[in-house]
Amino acid sequence: SGSLTVGELAEKLNKDSSEIIKKLMSLGVMATKNQDLDADSIELICEEFNVEVEEEVIVDETDIENMTFDDAPEDLQERPAVVTIMGHVDHGKTTLLDRIRDTKVTEGEAGGITQHIGAYQVEENDKKITFLDTPGHAAFTSMRSRGAQVTDIAILVVAADDGVMPQTREAINHAKAAEVPIIVAVNKMDKEGANPDRVMQELMEYELISEEYGGETIFVQMSAVNGEGIDELLEMIVLVSEMEELKANPGRPAYGTVIEAELDKGRGPVATLLIQNGTLNVGDAIVVGNTHGRVRAMVNDLGRRVKTAGPSTPVEITGLNNVPQAGDRFLVFEDEKKARSVGESRAQAQLEAERSSTAKVSLDDLFEQI
Ligand code: GDP
Ligand code: MG
Repeated sequence: SGSLTVGELAEKLNKDSSEIIKKLMSLGVMATKNQDLDADSIELICEEFNVEVEEEVIVDETDIENMTFDDAPEDLQERPAVVTIMGHVDHGKTTLLDRIRDTKVTEGEAGGITQHIGAYQVEENDKKITFLDTPGHAAFTSMRSRGAQVTDIAILVVAADDGVMPQTREAINHAKAAEVPIIVAVNKMDKEGANPDRVMQELMEYELISEEYGGETIFVQMSAVNGEGIDELLEMIVLVSEMEELKANPGRPAYGTVIEAELDKGRGPVATLLIQNGTLNVGDAIVVGNTHGRVRAMVNDLGRRVKTAGPSTPVEITGLNNVPQAGDRFLVFEDEKKARSVGESRAQAQLEAERSSTAKVSLDDLFEQI
């Protein structure tokens, strides 16, 4: 696309304007030196002079954004829910995540070795669920500040012996701002002094009203330590994800969000991606934030090499030219040249922005790690 005047084209082709005008006349087009030429005429003239036209890659972020919203309804299929666990410090988020992974993921896995890639999947009643292992608050703040919404369902962990605390409120605010459904996990039910009724009453103030109190919020009483209620929690997640009718199109090029990324001594830049739509393949030309490359190798949450990965799947990839950031979006391009051009122009824009901005404190730094 783009246009040139006769004079500009002449300059590019190292010809005199009169030669171009003569060629145009022979093609039946009358033109002056300052006349704009359309793409077709430019191509014709180039052919006449035996010049090969290389299409210029134009990077338009709006075009890129638009590439992610064009699925036909008939191409959409059910996809697993992506779940984030949130709540006050010490209320049991990490213990719950570990418990679910240990009881569900390692079942039947040779050696029971699971690699930590920042997210994992489990199966409940033949339905997959994807759990994000990243700090719940960071997942919401840094990712949402970049327009990326990765979470479908928030699990709000509240210790039954402690009740609603400051970070409980914060978590509720994040989930509500993101308009994601909340399931309340009333944890530490094994402890003396566990008081689930108090938790239910305290949460009414935040419009999280249990069925017992006439509301619709799902509360699951559980213990991350002895495993009580874990199955029920997983069943409720499946129930909510069915109500949400989560869908994606596995037949399109993949896009999604970076969960975490680092520089590995041996493998170079390594990024854990959550595929939100489409299917990612080894060999795909990809732009990840300001970085780009071809997917060299992909590893799933069980540490296994995979060649393809579909919607809601977390995978770790190598092959990028640089380390992207958590919360960066990624997108596969059919054309490697275009991927490189987009990646390079973004990196350039970032360099320029960094030069002109002063240091900022990252929100993530202010929040606890899960
Ligand atoms: P986080 O800060 O929310 O990630 O909380 P942790 O998972 O690190 O748990 C904080 C402490 O509470 C640890 O000592 C856990 O062993 C303990 N804990 C977590 N869940 C339970 C539970 O269901 N019952 C009991 N008794 N202790 C728990
Ligand atoms: Mg923790």
